[in-house]
Amino acid sequence: MDKSIREQILRLEKERDHSIAVVNWAKVFTLLGIDWAYSRAIGPASKFYLPEQKIFFSVSDEATVSSSIEVIGTTDGRFRMADNCSFDETWLTLCKGCGKRFFLDSTRSFVCPICGEYDGDHHLDKTYYGHENIFNSVLADVN
Ligand SMILES: [Zn+2]
Repeated sequence: MDKSIREQILRLEKERDHSIAVVNWAKVFTLLGIDWAYSRAIGPASKFYLPEQKIFFSVSDEATVSSSIEVIGTTDGRFRMADNCSFDETWLTLCKGCGKRFFLDSTRSFVCPICGEYDGDHHLDKTYYGHENIFNSVLADVN
């Protein structure tokens, strides 16, 4: 694990007002090789910024979040696109073209938003589904 990312996670764990869920999502992103930054300063809800996909990700169990959020992660490890896409329609997948992971709405385009790769679904690998608990699958070996 990258040293600066590890320090960032440790800092999150030390700050009292961060929930276990926020720390768990930071660990998931780190273990899956997704670059992230975290801020409490922007807007009412704390949020992650995922620079490779240029999206904001918020940890919330609410039905709606602020309009700047693209993906919502729940405190029990599920995730969905914020614009009404359901949990089972939201995927976190790995692009074989660039080796990066990205969130997608499976009812829409499968094009990799990072490198533009598209080959039906043949360029997708190691997909996690939003209705499943990603903490169980990704964090099981490290917690
Ligand atoms: Zn790609």
